Amino acid sequence: MENSKMEDLIGGMPSWTEEANCKGADADIFFPERGASTRKAKSICRACNVQEDCLEFAIEQSEKFGIWGGLSERERRRIKRQRVQSFDIREVS
Ligand code: SF4
Repeated sequence: MENSKMEDLIGGMPSWTEEANCKGADADIFFPERGASTRKAKSICRACNVQEDCLEFAIEQSEKFGIWGGLSERERRRIKRQRVQSFDIREVS
């Protein structure tokens, strides 16, 4: 992603993005190459006021790439799976 800033990517998104701590950050930080560090992105997310909104949005949208709400795609998938399993357990009990 050449010279993209996060606000270019989150334009037209829900209003919570106005408070995004990643505004102005290089998008490459949040969309690293496979195997590259996600530490910097996650650190920015930890200090973000809308981390929960961002994470829920990414989970609902099944975002396949990038760090959203401080979590990687794999970490978000795990949460989604746990929610489905927990819902299934409640359904049968
Ligand atoms: S949680 Fe991270 S990716 Fe989401 S808006 Fe905040 S800083 Fe940006």
